[in-house]
Amino acid sequence: VQPSEQSEAEVRANDRAHVFHSWSSQAQINPMPVASGAGATFWDYEGNAYLDFSSQLVNLNLGHQHPDLVASIQEQAGRQATIQPAMASDVRGELARRISEVAPGSLNKVLFTNGGADANEYAVRLARRVTGKRKVLSMYRSYHGSTATAISLTGDPRRWSNEPGDGSVAHFFGPYLYRSAFHATTEAEESARALEHLEQVIVLEGASTIGAIILETIVGTNGVLVPPAGYLPGVRALCDKYGIMYIADEVMVGFGRIGEWFAVNAFDVTPDLITFAKGVNSGYVPLGGVVISDEIASFFDNVPFPGGLTYSGHPLACAPGVATFDVFERDGILERVKDLGERVVAPTVQAWLASHPSVGDVRGTGLFWAIELVLDKATGEPLVPFNAAGADAAPMNAVAAACKAAGLWPFVHFNRLHIAPPLIISEEDLVRGLAIIDEALTVADGYVV
Ligand code: PLP
Repeated sequence: VQPSEQSEAEVRANDRAHVFHSWSSQAQINPMPVASGAGATFWDYEGNAYLDFSSQLVNLNLGHQHPDLVASIQEQAGRQATIQPAMASDVRGELARRISEVAPGSLNKVLFTNGGADANEYAVRLARRVTGKRKVLSMYRSYHGSTATAISLTGDPRRWSNEPGDGSVAHFFGPYLYRSAFHATTEAEESARALEHLEQVIVLEGASTIGAIILETIVGTNGVLVPPAGYLPGVRALCDKYGIMYIADEVMVGFGRIGEWFAVNAFDVTPDLITFAKGVNSGYVPLGGVVISDEIASFFDNVPFPGGLTYSGHPLACAPGVATFDVFERDGILERVKDLGERVVAPTVQAWLASHPSVGDVRGTGLFWAIELVLDKATGEPLVPFNAAGADAAPMNAVAAACKAAGLWPFVHFNRLHIAPPLIISEEDLVRGLAIIDEALTVADGYVV
């Protein structure tokens, strides 16, 4: 049988017998066969519809089966399916030009990769070469990918079972007022104290050993932590003071998630390197990359860059990247994300602070929000423990199950529910999805002491 003719049972059987899934105990999972998708919705084989409030892995910014993206891949496949990276390709050059145009400062060159982890690998390699310094600082509560360097940069439990790394990474605390590591009570205090802490880490780790600081412009999976005013410019100033490269990981927040091409544009800061993936082409074909400043790029004018990938800047991946720019511009995607975020999402989720005893904190911007669920608002004790699994995770699993039963596919991480629908979601579906979550939160309320 052709794959498209397979029954649900056949899809499930092949998957269980032969597909080895990431991040999973293989015997304990039962992946749902997905039959089709369109826009902000996908369907299982029984015809049940799910509003995709996680945009798959927060990558499907233009939604399922966007006709312009699909057509761009079909057209490119008919014209030139592939060409190796040492040759010049029209579509690769065009995408690099469009990315450079929306990147801040002198970030004018793009090194393409296959995804986010290898983008971070290469950003670190560039910084190490240019500075001659090997150590990298990254945040606790961060995710930077799962390849060797990227997983050691990562500041969440996914790193633990991959340790030890090569010893070249040190972690620091970023700003997170709701669970402040600095006993701060205002955003301004949190920002100032987080910067003082970072400077101490730099001094104690040895500025002469540190080539780069990498941070997510808005921490994604680890909590939608929007940095307070002044924090990112403060990081920039510390990097300048100590001769350190500033790498902004925008794999999750770049390309429209918060209504900006690059999130740094909203925070008045210009990094030396920006990494991207996911939203660049909504993941229709794997693609990531590093946007590089002129200063760093020119270091390699007469010195070869030591790195490469067979599929760097693959034409079938770059074509939907170019189409993404066209769609964003034609359909005013950045403007609608800001508008829907401010007008629809913000007031709705902020009201949950009063209406749900389990909602301890809500935060976010654009179409990127976190709802932090707690057992006790006074103490902030999380609804499930940090890194909860198995029975410990039951309350969050129950919230997720309530969402799914009502036709919404949620993004759940530890004690948080994130809101990250495709940027093309209709206002009607957005309102409907928020109402489903509102109702599902009553399940969490049931656990509150
Ligand atoms: N950086 C961030 C901020 C991410 O959210 C992710 C993936 O979720 C990555 C890097 C890794 O990207 P990839 O899975 O494409 O390697």
